[in-house]
Amino acid sequence: MDYARRAVELGLDEIGFSDHSPMPRDDFDDWRMRDSQLDEYVAKVRLAQREFPQLKIRLALEVDYLPGHEDWIRKLAARQPWDYFIGSVHYVSDSWDIDNPAKLSEWKKRDAFAVWQAYFERLTQAVESGLFDIIGHADLPKKFGFRPAQDCTPLYEKFLHAVAETGCAIELNTAGLRKDCQEIYPSRELLEIAFRKNVPITFGSDAHAPAEVGLNFAEAVALARSVGYTETLRFRQRQAEAAWL
Ligand SMILES: [Zn+2]
Repeated sequence: MDYARRAVELGLDEIGFSDHSPMPRDDFDDWRMRDSQLDEYVAKVRLAQREFPQLKIRLALEVDYLPGHEDWIRKLAARQPWDYFIGSVHYVSDSWDIDNPAKLSEWKKRDAFAVWQAYFERLTQAVESGLFDIIGHADLPKKFGFRPAQDCTPLYEKFLHAVAETGCAIELNTAGLRKDCQEIYPSRELLEIAFRKNVPITFGSDAHAPAEVGLNFAEAVALARSVGYTETLRFRQRQAEAAWL
């Protein structure tokens, strides 16, 4: 409710809720809703829709992609009339979520490029699954600043080729500005390749608190425009609609 109120204060005309989806096993990790909380989440979004009729409020989820979870994600999609699914990779293995500050020591044990390679390989698989409307925070491995010395362009090219083929969008996510990397996800370099391949974009602030709703959107729009973008996508009932930037 507070998030919707904040969106109205800011003069936004549309907001989407995309909480972290449950996993097939509730004890998978400790930073997402449990399966039994899904209905409560949907009810809260519906309540906000009724309380703020002047605001378009979309019902969505940020869904973790792990290989083998495809059927689970398909079932999740059938449980509610979702407006969109953001597909994200946080886990490069079943036990390491690379953006988890509690597991920062894992980064220090590994070669950064090998992690980026594993991440983008999985992200490309997520795209190819065809289960998602939007791909979340595409270059998440930069979060803590562990950047490989090697050129990552081939990883971006392969990933974005799959995105273009599948027809999903990538999000400009301003949360990166609030992390060690101090940069919007994705980087300008990745976004330039996306633009060349006609990959559509969406905007998100990845708000984990009401004050973060719409945070730094002006910078994200400026970045998109500077790369050449003139349009963004919005999703309703998993159908895309273009809007001018
Ligand atoms: Zn995420």
